[in-house]
Amino acid sequence: MAQPHSHVFLGDRLVPADQATVGVASSAVLYGLSVYTVFPVLVEGGARHAFRLADHFRRLEESCKIIGIDRFAQEWDYARFEVGVRELVAANAPADDVFVRVSVHVVESIPGTRVRGCAIQVSMFVYDAVPIVPQDGMRLKSSPWRRIPDNAIPSRAKVNGAYVNSVLAKQDAIDSGYDDCVFLDGGGHVCELSAANIFLVRGGTLITPDVSCDILDGINRRTVLTLAREEGIPVRERTVDLTELYIADEVFVTGTSAGAAPVFEIDGRAVGAGIVGPVTTALRKRHAAALRGDTEHGWVTPLS
Ligand code: PMP
Repeated sequence: MAQPHSHVFLGDRLVPADQATVGVASSAVLYGLSVYTVFPVLVEGGARHAFRLADHFRRLEESCKIIGIDRFAQEWDYARFEVGVRELVAANAPADDVFVRVSVHVVESIPGTRVRGCAIQVSMFVYDAVPIVPQDGMRLKSSPWRRIPDNAIPSRAKVNGAYVNSVLAKQDAIDSGYDDCVFLDGGGHVCELSAANIFLVRGGTLITPDVSCDILDGINRRTVLTLAREEGIPVRERTVDLTELYIADEVFVTGTSAGAAPVFEIDGRAVGAGIVGPVTTALRKRHAAALRGDTEHGWVTPLS
């Protein structure tokens, strides 16, 4: 459950979770006109830190810019955002790892659909960090639903309403007995899962769809690519065919809520040897260490 913990940040202050509401006539509710991000807060021996906070803020800004939510750039900057995150985490004082969901809602009630100049409200809440896919070898199904292309609703922007696309594909996968979907684009090329990026390993090379393949430019995707290069693993970002996944040595996925998790089966075909492969194992270890703050990349923001 993504049940908010007790204190929710709404607008410019903390309110009790049951009072954190957005209007029924807002564009956020009527059209799904909100953008969001989710980042983790890790708890280590009582100390808390956020992972890649500035990158999450930048992606939120970019989502707003793409959609035309111009009031966000006028009213918010990174400093204000970080203060809000600190207040939220201090008030909830989570004892275990949590996720923080930050949304920019277009709250103005307007007849018809437009966005520029419309009033916004930012919400942030904390919830338990429960993974959305199995961590010990998941089974994926290629989806009959196509990924929304960049010239319809761009996957590069995290638009709430666009997640109906993910709901359709994930529910189809679940109904068919799988854990999650593999989204393909109109031409049949691999994009991503419902809420995670996908990687394959073949002949020791790490391959993933590039950022112009109708994917979200995932923060954990970027993290794993950086770590792989540091490990000396050859990396290719390019178009990927579905059948390349079928014959891959290893497949894994990345995401804030997905972790860095192995895939054991796609469309009824076993991936590799049915065990967590060596490249996946190495990168999972590095990714977990990076989340805990064991790198020199400046990815961690201490909070309290
Ligand atoms: N793709 C989609 C569609 C997602 O919703 C997510 C989760 N935010 C990801 C990929 C992974 O992105 P990140 O690593 O930034 O969590």
